[in-house]
Amino acid sequence: MSEDTIFGKIIRKEIPADIIYEDELCLAFRDINPQAPTHILVIPKKTIPRLADIADQDKELLGHMLLTVKSIAEKEGLSNGYRVVINTDEDGGQTVFHLHMHLLGGRSLSWPPG
Ligand code: AMP
Repeated sequence: MSEDTIFGKIIRKEIPADIIYEDELCLAFRDINPQAPTHILVIPKKTIPRLADIADQDKELLGHMLLTVKSIAEKEGLSNGYRVVINTDEDGGQTVFHLHMHLLGGRSLSWPPG
């Protein structure tokens, strides 16, 4: 059902993206509509539509994605801090149904979100 999201096309290199990191488990690229000076998406290559769909078998993958976020934040020079967001389903504001972590930084971010 979720096989063919725009992120699936990016993983398969069917459409271009500003990819900054890739390994066997995940891919990171710059958000096309950045909400902060640094706005990067980290996505699993495995098709998981929403955070609500993760299972025990995904523990290692999710830990790997968070370590990837941390490593990218360091490379991007976000030494003053950053925010990691996973929008989930309708109330969470999710628009692309392929799990993704937003890495936002480069400015002071307000709280709470809208
Ligand atoms: P969400 O609303 O949490 O599902 O986030 C989806 C994000 O994907 C948004 O921030 C969009 O700007 C971003 N996005 C959508 N299409 C692309 C694309 N082709 N390349 C990069 N980012 C995209």
